[in-house]
Amino acid sequence: MEIRIEGVSRYYYSEGKTIKALDDVNLTIAANQIFTLLGPSGCGKTTLLRCIVGLEMPDTGQISIGGEVVWSKVAGISVPPEKRGLGMVFQTYAIWPHMSVFDNVAYPLQVRGMPKARIRDKVADTLRFVQLEGFERRPATKLSGGQQQRVALARALVAEPKVILFDEPLSNLDAKLREETRKELRAFLGKLKITAVYVTHDRVEALALSDSIAVMRAGQIVEVGTPKKIYFDADHRFVADFIGRANLIPARVRSHEGGFTIVESALGTVACEQRDVALGSEATLCIRPEFIRIVAGTAQAAHNLVNGRVDSLVFVGEAYEVEIRVGDVLLLAKVSADVTLAEGSAVSFTLEPAHCLLVAI
Ligand code: ATP
Repeated sequence: MEIRIEGVSRYYYSEGKTIKALDDVNLTIAANQIFTLLGPSGCGKTTLLRCIVGLEMPDTGQISIGGEVVWSKVAGISVPPEKRGLGMVFQTYAIWPHMSVFDNVAYPLQVRGMPKARIRDKVADTLRFVQLEGFERRPATKLSGGQQQRVALARALVAEPKVILFDEPLSNLDAKLREETRKELRAFLGKLKITAVYVTHDRVEALALSDSIAVMRAGQIVEVGTPKKIYFDADHRFVADFIGRANLIPARVRSHEGGFTIVESALGTVACEQRDVALGSEATLCIRPEFIRIVAGTAQAAHNLVNGRVDSLVFVGEAYEVEIRVGDVLLLAKVSADVTLAEGSAVSFTLEPAHCLLVAI
């Protein structure tokens, strides 16, 4: 089911001030995708999710799910949450500790008055799907965090929703379990033909899980794209910076030559992936630490050979994190652990133009 959000704003009033939790949001979430709302704390992710669910009434705009208008300020339409055909998984597991796994999952069907035999079959199917077969009689408290999260997922899926919504569902799990559960969730959702809207402020989770990501800031959508587009080819500095570690260096556009955009910067003249930017304009050069390639000896490179000095060197297991000083700029590089470097020594590196991204200031 496609979700369409048109001109949606939500204001809060607190201590004489207006807080624009959502500020004229327009967004189309394609059917059968895992779509993530990503952004810093307070940017409006949860408010947008709650507007889709129907727990929050927008001040302006319209929301449609699968072509049906579920909210319209102008037309005075407000479909209640239980009639929107949605399933929801929250940050807190929101499963009932005093109930068994079976009762937790059966609950949404019991309140609909479904016959008992049918409930038994549907719960069994859903528990098999989330790999909790045989756990029916177990009290919900006697499960691991990851298993409890799967019970919450089963309960959200059992009534066969058209859309499933997740609000930071993994944030209570420890790092290792979070990684495993993320993989499972991706596999479960891949098997279902369902639209999933996922809220997180964890960029790795967003990259690993999503088909599309919308990056939000201060109640607005800044950019929407696939994980790779957002990571490698963002249009906005805020997005490039938020989605991963990046060296951001002021630059001025000098020319467009041989398929590259050439800029002047504190690193000298740098050939970048071509961008449609005006000559003389100011931009930000974005270089990810993993794309700084150290070269040994007196190397030659077709483009972007830069000399600097190793300022600091930190071994982090799979790599060195190296700070390299070039004039006034301190660059962070992630360098293979088998490269020999020493603090204070001279170092040369190259920058592949394809990984020298120009973003708006
Ligand atoms: P987090 O990642 O911290 O959960 P978020 O991106 O989900 O943040 P929201 O919870 O949607 O952000 O909040 C958006 C803005 O609206 C914030 O500035 C928040 O303080 C404000 N806000 C949310 N709920 C209320 C409320 N009931 N009354 C007043 N302000 C609110």
